[in-house]
Amino acid sequence: MALFDLVEDERHDILNEAIELVHDYYTNTKNRHVTPDLDLNFVRRYVENGISPSKNSYKEKIKYVFKGLESFAVQIAHPSYFGLFNPRPAFSGIISDLFTATTNPQMAAWSHNPFCYAVEEYSIQELGKRFGLEHVDGTFCSGGAEANQTAVLCALNKHFPSYLTKGVQSLSARPVLYCSGQTHHSIAKAARMCGIGLESVRQVPTNDNLEMDVDHLSRCIQDDLTAGLLPFMIVATAGTTGPGSIDHITEIQALAKKHSLWFHVDAAFAGALCLSPKHKSVLSGIEHADSITVDIHKWLAAPMGTGCFITSHPSILESTFRITAEYMPTEGSQNNAVDPYVHSIQWSRRSLGLRFYMSLLFYGWAGFEKTLNHHMDMGKALKEKLKNHDWKILNHTPLPIVCFSKENYTDDDIKKICTHVVQSKKAWISTYPINEKLSLRACITNYATNENELDQLVLLLQEAEKTIA
Ligand SMILES: *Cc1c(COP(=O)(O)O)cnc(C)c1O
Repeated sequence: MALFDLVEDERHDILNEAIELVHDYYTNTKNRHVTPDLDLNFVRRYVENGISPSKNSYKEKIKYVFKGLESFAVQIAHPSYFGLFNPRPAFSGIISDLFTATTNPQMAAWSHNPFCYAVEEYSIQELGKRFGLEHVDGTFCSGGAEANQTAVLCALNKHFPSYLTKGVQSLSARPVLYCSGQTHHSIAKAARMCGIGLESVRQVPTNDNLEMDVDHLSRCIQDDLTAGLLPFMIVATAGTTGPGSIDHITEIQALAKKHSLWFHVDAAFAGALCLSPKHKSVLSGIEHADSITVDIHKWLAAPMGTGCFITSHPSILESTFRITAEYMPTEGSQNNAVDPYVHSIQWSRRSLGLRFYMSLLFYGWAGFEKTLNHHMDMGKALKEKLKNHDWKILNHTPLPIVCFSKENYTDDDIKKICTHVVQSKKAWISTYPINEKLSLRACITNYATNENELDQLVLLLQEAEKTIA
């Protein structure tokens, strides 16, 4: 017997126990507290105590770990988690991860796992088609941050091919990319990691609706060109992380085209809507993007760590990431297959596309559509319910994200209300500044959220308001 395998009967028992734990949690997520006590030292002791030899049955050990997961975490799978784009994972994703962890697909070279390779290829092509791209290539990755970094690298390569060999030193002046003050900070991080630095990132101001001010963008580009700088990329966001605002994709794309800049749409959250014929018009213009970020682990309910980068330039990824390594399998050039390791940032990588593909098998495109439309309906319902209780909606978005307050509430009041809701353990919401005034933020991130949870949230807010009266 190999030690790490354990004995067959014992293993079977543990698996059964694990399945019971998973089944009970998934079925009764609602009965859990949404939020934990944040006593990190207590949790550190819990972690240390787990190593104790007194817990000698494997069943006890896995129960101990599951209890840790249930007790010391925000339960993002709970339907009263009105949070930060984190989903309840679709059941298909759980099965997919169990299978993936068991067979351990290695996605660096296609020939190690033609099945998972074909699954990812199919998924990317289908997603790209639904965005309306004429040509489609792409890669699964760890999340939106990695997808955005991939975009910056591709844009640098497209504009300055010498960047690949000679680096930024070979550029005659500072390269510049444009985004807005509401853009996700992973773009700034990407600029650092690509070696162009934060000074290469122009954060264009936003209008009152927190959308990128396109006239301002146009002036910025002109000024930079006049100053001899090297504009190379514009990043528009479809669904900003705070207020869910959607930049004017078509107008920004026209500017990008005029100045021959790479046009990236960060649609980490709202990109999912390309699967809803009813709502996809909010992404109108995205079909002309050079590249798109969409997180499968947000609105499409895959387990954490499933991002996707899609581009309409079929050879840009390979030209950006191709490298040769003698120890790698060499079947790469057969069958029009490109090894993922010469086509993306990561090298050894787990299979990610399977999480999406498995959902397609279980629920079909119609299932995604129905679920997305449900989120949109719940978003609308929440906005109505809040308005009926005299809350003022401060953000402007068709997405199911609400930033709200009341005329007389100070930032401090808002913080207190939020804390009261979170500490009740019955729901999780957050705060976000809208035009420099703090508001409460609630997002429908969970396909299992229904009117009941919305009503409960409105009641909780009412209770919380009493504490500041
Ligand atoms: C969440 C988010 C990101 C970062 O994605 P991760 O999956 O957390 O890496 C980037 N852009 C936007 C608009 C996001 O909402």
